[in-house]
Amino acid sequence: MWWKSIAERIPLIGMTSQAQDLQSALIRKAFFYLKNSIIGNQTSIMKIPITSFFALFLCVTVLAQNNFDTVSIRPVKVTDQIYMLKGSGGNIGVMIGKDGTIMIDDQFAPLSNKINGAIKTLDPGEIRFLINTHLHGDHSGGNENFKRMGVTVVAHDDVRARMSKETVNKTTNQVTPPRDADALPVVTFADKLNFHLNDEDIELIHFDPAHTDGDVVVHFKKANVYHMGDMFVTYGYPFIDFSNGGSISGFISTLDKVLAMMDEKTKIIPGHGEVSSKADIKIFRDRLADIRDQVSAALKKGKKPEDISSLPIATKYDAEWGKSFVKGKDFVLTIAEELKVSTAK
Ligand SMILES: [Zn+2]
Ligand SMILES: [Zn+2]
Repeated sequence: MWWKSIAERIPLIGMTSQAQDLQSALIRKAFFYLKNSIIGNQTSIMKIPITSFFALFLCVTVLAQNNFDTVSIRPVKVTDQIYMLKGSGGNIGVMIGKDGTIMIDDQFAPLSNKINGAIKTLDPGEIRFLINTHLHGDHSGGNENFKRMGVTVVAHDDVRARMSKETVNKTTNQVTPPRDADALPVVTFADKLNFHLNDEDIELIHFDPAHTDGDVVVHFKKANVYHMGDMFVTYGYPFIDFSNGGSISGFISTLDKVLAMMDEKTKIIPGHGEVSSKADIKIFRDRLADIRDQVSAALKKGKKPEDISSLPIATKYDAEWGKSFVKGKDFVLTIAEELKVSTAK
């Protein structure tokens, strides 16, 4: 659909990934209303929310300032066969070898040709599989293009289910329209899926609801390499997408389970950031657990989420993490709201 392809083309360069996620949702919504008003003949243009016009204005402004044409795709070698590709959006994982190429995540649609080109310089062989670590557009925006090239897209059951329908943000009531059928994964699974390619055993594991409810960790067993999707990022406070089934406690339990599988030699491709180690994930996990436990204790004392957000719970992490789009206070507030709802059940 034209309106969606335009929405996909809006560059989100230079923004943090959470800002990209949010702006991407806003832009999609704007185009969704615009499409209805022009094509649907049912929604009057007068009924298009002012926020959508604002989003369109923002799109045009951003479009004028940034362009995917300026993005280059840079491969970072992880092992002889495994690379991380950086561009705009989530880190892409690539494994090359005699049986063909397998890639993890695909950033934004306008970058697909460049990404394909960068992969082909590593190995000219066929790209056989593309794994989506989760549904967000900065990790799955190129699905249509890679499917058109004959690549099989693989993801968790919930990724396909959520991409197929409209989602509503519980906090902002923002509506994100469904993805085109052409973008949907064709192979889905619930808990585990194994690939046996290039003399490697690759395990896809879904643990608990974390960043979303359809997150997948990709484990290259012999190489001792992991792609963590957005369950591990190095830019600051992580984004927990509660509207898509994310959960702070599931986030922490997922990290605990992954940590138990890792050792000092493990190499980790984060959803965003540079190649990391087990020690980096441990620090990240401990901070999240510290914040969660303090929020939980405050709730037990009868404090309200809005009061908890003004406590100095995350202050000590702000110097390092506060530069991210999610501020410490807001992170604490969203966790307090989630824990309040889950303890009330
Ligand atoms: Zn991301
Ligand atoms: Zn994400």
